[in-house]
Amino acid sequence: MCGIVGYIGSKEAYPIIINGLKRLEYRGYDSTGVVLYKEGDLALCKTKGKVADLEAISSKLAESKSTIGIGHTRWATHGEPNDVNSHPHLSNSGELAIIHNGIIENYDAIKTQLVNNGFVFHSDTDTEVLINLIEYVKQQEGVKLGKAVQIALKQVIGAYAIAVFDVKKPNEIVVAKLGSPLAIGIGEDEYFIASDATPFIEFTNNALYLEDGEMAIIRQGRELRVRNINDDIKIENPNISTLNISLDQIEKSGYDHFMLKEIHEQPDVVRDTLRGRLLVNEGVIKMSSIDDHLNKFIGAKRILIIACGTSWHAGLVGEYLIEDLARIPVEVEYASEFRYRNPIITKDDIVIPISQSGETADTLAAIKLAKEMGAFVYGICNVVGSSIARETHSGAYTHAGPEIGVASTKAFTTQLTVLALLAAKIAVSKGSISTTEFHQFINQLDAIPNKIAQVMESESKAKEIAKEYADATNFLYLGRGYNFPVALEGALKLKEISYIHAEGYPAAEMKHGPIALIDENMPVVVIAPKRGHYEKIVSNVMEIKARKGKIIAIVSKGDTEIVNLADHYIEIPDSAEPLTPMITTIPLQFLSYYIAVIRGCNVDQPRNLAKSVTVE
Ligand code: GLU
Repeated sequence: MCGIVGYIGSKEAYPIIINGLKRLEYRGYDSTGVVLYKEGDLALCKTKGKVADLEAISSKLAESKSTIGIGHTRWATHGEPNDVNSHPHLSNSGELAIIHNGIIENYDAIKTQLVNNGFVFHSDTDTEVLINLIEYVKQQEGVKLGKAVQIALKQVIGAYAIAVFDVKKPNEIVVAKLGSPLAIGIGEDEYFIASDATPFIEFTNNALYLEDGEMAIIRQGRELRVRNINDDIKIENPNISTLNISLDQIEKSGYDHFMLKEIHEQPDVVRDTLRGRLLVNEGVIKMSSIDDHLNKFIGAKRILIIACGTSWHAGLVGEYLIEDLARIPVEVEYASEFRYRNPIITKDDIVIPISQSGETADTLAAIKLAKEMGAFVYGICNVVGSSIARETHSGAYTHAGPEIGVASTKAFTTQLTVLALLAAKIAVSKGSISTTEFHQFINQLDAIPNKIAQVMESESKAKEIAKEYADATNFLYLGRGYNFPVALEGALKLKEISYIHAEGYPAAEMKHGPIALIDENMPVVVIAPKRGHYEKIVSNVMEIKARKGKIIAIVSKGDTEIVNLADHYIEIPDSAEPLTPMITTIPLQFLSYYIAVIRGCNVDQPRNLAKSVTVE
């Protein structure tokens, strides 16, 4: 959470920083600010609200020809979202400026120490404490900025991606990372700093992703100097990656919202996830990330899937898939619970963390724990080069492309795709399914992108239904088996972007409580494809109907029973049951999208949320 951007070079810094912040707004949009170096001084402008609000009040900065500066878009952790708590923060002397993504956990103790030494604080943030600690160290030790940052960070407990700037050294920005992402774009005689590569992709393809515990001193016209913060060892030949993102991928391409664009991208991105892995003609799944460790997968006593939010729902589908096909017991854990509950993990366990951003703080902490306890860790994430990709023993990218809408859509379906590949691959390798069953499964999987394309036709129907229920105050989502996690995901989508209270339940559990909520005002979304426990779901639908609940059913094409009971229905193409979640979830994405639009909600930037939860 929080987006940071910086620039040092010969171009004008302001437009680069503002455009970069707009691209990073998915990470937080409570407040925003920018500071530029200007003729021996710092020109600072910051405000509560979005980058557009900052633009409206920063015309002076816009006119400045400054070629060095830093900017921030905030998701508040310490201190309410107001002007004063906005970043950048300045030190007491006004000479140092900082932007920060993360949390300084021991900020209070440091603050007390600084107050005792005469420092005063204007904001409630942990970040202002850090910049004053750096200033204090600089004064006390008589060291340069880079050294002061390094000494200060050794006293800090918590997580950070920071960029620090000293008005007395206008040709230098010092950056450091622990637990929050930080990418440095390397151009010709210029450097870019950002939370991800999107702010600089039109300028350079070369990026260095700092590792945890590393810092860099960035000077225009000089080679990048990267060091380890704790032991001060210089990192020789840091690993510079070549980026493979196009500008088009991070723009709306004519859609009203990123979320809608991303829903529509799903046939293509699922195809991309399968590409080169699912070779139907040869009758194989080729995944070197599994092949290279096949014995571990075949011999696994247990698989633990660890994730948060939508990824956790994908993990639940993964549980059904892996247990069903590969016959390995699976547990799905919330990363935040797992890491703090003294879990039992053995070296025969495989831990599978799932995260879109690959930066989810709790998931990363869970990975560290699992590794310490000797488990083999196989990561599933979307963002190439992210911390999860680097911290795990092996893993697979979902290849969904940049997901900018805060409510996850294509990340979910591509995660399901990887999990389906993984389950089938392990299953056929260990012989828990026959070759014939395997071939049937991969043929079905191969057909999924086209089926997702067909289900895009449900958009207009979902829009109609949305009109009718946009004023509802509660929603219930019911599903069974493979589609129970889809019910959870459908409810989450609605909550996130329309602020309507919604709950997902296994359909049969309804009788153990939620049925008490059903009356004529309660819309109930029932996910009822023909495969699976269809007859049981029909009974559940009858039970809702008997209590006058309004039924919105997702049914297989050609359904004759539920369509006669439901108030509304959306048809989806038939598929093998384990793969239905990739199809049934699409109309639910449309439904929540259109309800949110009708309610006038900010679909791409829902209140209080941010993508990529890099704080605990
Ligand atoms: N802790 C800082 C603040 O509240 C940064 C927040 C973040 O990165 O999420 O301003």
